[in-house]
Amino acid sequence: MSILYKSTRGVDGVTVTASQAILQGLAKDGGLFVPTELPKLDVTLDELKDMSYQETAYAVMKQFLTDFTEEELKACIANAYDAKFDTEEIAPLVKTDKAYYLELFHGATIAFKDMALSILPHLMTTAAKKNNAKNEIVILTATSGDTGKAALAGFADVPGTKIIVFYPKNGVSPIQEKQMVTQKGDNTFVVGIHGNFDDAQSGVKAIFADKALAEEMDKAGFQFSSANSINIGRLVPQVVYYVYAYAKLYANGEIEKDEKINVVVPTGNFGNILAAYYAKQMGMPIDKLICASNDNKVLYDFFKTGCYDKNREFILTTSPSMDILISSNLERLVYKIAGNDAVKDVALMKSLNTDGSYEISEEMKAELADFYGNYASEAETAEEIAKVYGDTGYVLDTHTAVASAVYGKYVAETGDAKKAVIASTASPYKFTRSVMNAIDAEKYNAMGDFELVDELSVISGVAVPNAIEEIRNAEVRHNTVCDANEMQMIVKQFLGI
Ligand SMILES: *Cc1c(COP(=O)(O)O)cnc(C)c1O
Repeated sequence: MSILYKSTRGVDGVTVTASQAILQGLAKDGGLFVPTELPKLDVTLDELKDMSYQETAYAVMKQFLTDFTEEELKACIANAYDAKFDTEEIAPLVKTDKAYYLELFHGATIAFKDMALSILPHLMTTAAKKNNAKNEIVILTATSGDTGKAALAGFADVPGTKIIVFYPKNGVSPIQEKQMVTQKGDNTFVVGIHGNFDDAQSGVKAIFADKALAEEMDKAGFQFSSANSINIGRLVPQVVYYVYAYAKLYANGEIEKDEKINVVVPTGNFGNILAAYYAKQMGMPIDKLICASNDNKVLYDFFKTGCYDKNREFILTTSPSMDILISSNLERLVYKIAGNDAVKDVALMKSLNTDGSYEISEEMKAELADFYGNYASEAETAEEIAKVYGDTGYVLDTHTAVASAVYGKYVAETGDAKKAVIASTASPYKFTRSVMNAIDAEKYNAMGDFELVDELSVISGVAVPNAIEEIRNAEVRHNTVCDANEMQMIVKQFLGI
């Protein structure tokens, strides 16, 4: 069966192939590409339970990327999930009394973004070949901290591509910033902006939507694409690890066949949790999708009231990769619960654009029963890190701690005792200062960033990851800073047009 993609705002009903959707990133009308139908898995749990990560990836991704040949897709997978990961399992599960933490941070940049961004460059260059693209691809990315580095690592020195990353100058952790500004590769460009993540993301979307610029680019031999989770080539690889995690729980005798589990996801742009929802739609026995927010709890309010309202203060938290008020991928869910109705979607997104808010109908609200939303405050997040460390010796990063704390609230509220998988989205080494402060503020407050790294290794018994060692003494290669309204000019400067 072949799966095609259409835009959430595609009132004309035009469809494209998977490879075309990956190449374009965002649809020309500003909408996001969605599959015309969500495919089912065509393998059984008993087959899945014996599969490696790579085999699982093929079983899942072939259902979505139907215009890639077996050979193409398998080559992409083999090149992505290799020794860049520090464990053969790729995404190991860690069991505690509370839940199973699905560690998604064993890739090159120690955040879950590696799970998709280590394969996206391969999918994209394969897609370019399949479609005889003549232009050089310019990846334009807004980052709340983790996407930027993972995309840089994925695209650095990939022939036929350039990558430009915009990050909020004062909105990322010291380690995140150092990881980005020390990035090597002649085709990489990193820019801090005076503004927050939403400013960066809106700026990038505006550049994508600028038709005159697209023409100018085309004349100069360039075309834009996106490495953000608005690209379907990011979303599809993220479905894989939910299928894999379930199959491993079953293989290890932790759950019965077809036993329902809950999944908890620390959420920002709504990409990771949407992938879990897609895994459920493919047939995995997942019950609740628990959407965890930090103090920027726009999604919690949405699930509670049916009203999405970004008109509020943007709060900088210790989980910066979730400091987002416009969760782009929610549009894919909104489109679906509107009955795949692009006209309705356009109306709601227009309202978001002009008033900063929209409200869904009661009918649509009823379609959200799979989801539960809650949030953890800064104090609750820090307490969770200290508590889990105190109880088990396991050190959570701040984002995973938000999810873990929200899961505690969910169980207290509902009494639901189903087993749960918590998406563990970053290594604590990426957020050492916040993590160590949560464990013992007095003791660690005065230490430098890399002293804290060494101390974390001592208290957790986990070796310092390569990704941290390599930036310890690395030279800063990028120091451009600009205002949000200068982003387009900076892009042109970099491309020499
Ligand atoms: C990006 C990120 C998130 C949020 O994921 P979304 O797909 O944007 O919802 C959570 N935690 C970490 C560590 C991240 O890097």
